[in-house]
Amino acid sequence: MHDCRINPLANCPRGLIAWSGMLLVFISLSSHCTAEGLNTERQLRKSVVNESFWKPHTESRNWKYVVIHHTATESGSIDQIHRAHLQRKDSQGRPWRGIGYHFVIGNGQGMKDGQVEPTFRWQGQIDGAHAGNELYNRFGIGVCLIGNFETHGPSQAQLDSLQHLLAYLNRAYSIQSDHVLGHGQIKSTQCPGQNFPLKNYSRYSPEESP
Ligand SMILES: [Zn+2]
Repeated sequence: MHDCRINPLANCPRGLIAWSGMLLVFISLSSHCTAEGLNTERQLRKSVVNESFWKPHTESRNWKYVVIHHTATESGSIDQIHRAHLQRKDSQGRPWRGIGYHFVIGNGQGMKDGQVEPTFRWQGQIDGAHAGNELYNRFGIGVCLIGNFETHGPSQAQLDSLQHLLAYLNRAYSIQSDHVLGHGQIKSTQCPGQNFPLKNYSRYSPEESP
């Protein structure tokens, strides 16, 4: 007759029960961790339209405008734009510091559909490099939606997120719709595309001064 206390792996019902119990605890712990992981993922996904992630990391600047852009590409992400903009130079030949916008809104191809991501320029409250115009780079929050709105409109999720972001910027910086403008209103460009419903967001009149 053997003793389970000496060899728990021995062919002993009590030993087996003990080991099965431990296994069950292990399995339930791992499934708990997986569930936690999923919850975190869900929270992260929610966070892309969560205003608390839009707070700058430093003291806010005196922003006066929002300038809306599109990428004129079917897909893209904040990282792709950042890498591309690192290659660019300003009119004096100085290299850009990276992505020129303050916010990017994804379309499901490269970023989640409707995902709003602040860039380092927003977090650090740095001038934009998006307007092609010093005044609007300095006082304008550059918001870029992924997509080519010359050929089709933005997704509903992108429009919902833009609305949410504009409401936030309106509360935080008192930027009204008469200071929300499409890139084409301040520079000769098609941006943000003929299918972007600009009149729903902008009552900007180009004559006024900041
Ligand atoms: Zn633009």
